[in-house]
Amino acid sequence: MDKYRGRFAPSPTGPLHFGSLVAAVGSYLEARNRGGAWLVRMEDLDPPRMQPGAADRILRTLEAFGMGWDGEIMYQSRRGEAYRAALARLEAQGVVYACGCSRKEIADSGLGPDGALIYPGTCRNGLAPGKAPRAMRVRVGHESVEFEDALQGTIRQDLGAEAGDFVLLRADGLCAYQLAVVVDDAEQGIGDVVRGADLLDSTPRQIFLQRRLGLPTPRYLHLPAAVNAAGEKLSKQTLAPAVDGRDPVPVLTQVMAFLGQAPPAQLHREPLAAFWNWALAQWNTELIPRQRSLPSP
Ligand code: GLU
Repeated sequence: MDKYRGRFAPSPTGPLHFGSLVAAVGSYLEARNRGGAWLVRMEDLDPPRMQPGAADRILRTLEAFGMGWDGEIMYQSRRGEAYRAALARLEAQGVVYACGCSRKEIADSGLGPDGALIYPGTCRNGLAPGKAPRAMRVRVGHESVEFEDALQGTIRQDLGAEAGDFVLLRADGLCAYQLAVVVDDAEQGIGDVVRGADLLDSTPRQIFLQRRLGLPTPRYLHLPAAVNAAGEKLSKQTLAPAVDGRDPVPVLTQVMAFLGQAPPAQLHREPLAAFWNWALAQWNTELIPRQRSLPSP
């Protein structure tokens, strides 16, 4: 078997919060437990959403938490050429079309499982006269995608009904997350993706693109996503507090409890090195709750 290669791919829209730390710790422990490599990729794809300094702050926080990565950091902001090349390959297959619809024009479409609008296909057979191209979409047809998630079990999605023709190149000219993540996971040779289950509904779209582009499909393990008391995913928008790099062990202990790893009562008082010794020995994916979301502490 090839050497295990996992990754953590934060979006630097703000500092690390409990939810992003869960993805970092879960992917890190799984990689280290298998004697594999752990890579970090900055998903700084969307300048309007980026917070200046957040990428460096995330890296300093990972270091303060004792999580060292392998190799160079990949920055999506520098990968435009690779994304354009992938888009061109899909265009050559005739599965991509220009869409001239504004958000408002598709606002009464149905919603997919991730809350995104399902595109009704208005521009699929060409732009209506007077409509200017805005975004590029990929035609999904009636394909359904099934995969085995190491924690969440069999996931099946009828792409046409549940996702619709999705955007590859956004109206503002930026590459969409779904295409960038597929191109970059392949470029970094990622064989195993461990991330939050808030992305579970995106995975079939990513597998669809991997197949179209002739790229390997990694194994997936989607950890429960941390939600607040209102059931919302922790994020900058829901004002999740930043984790404190000056006092890492208490919050790392909470992450291990969140992931079902049953930390001993006094672990939060231990030094960082003792925490990692315990965590690496204890790590067992069988103990992780098989749920899509869990309340954060
Ligand atoms: N950048 C994404 C996020 O922070 C994660 C992407 C991924 O792990 O595939 O939600």
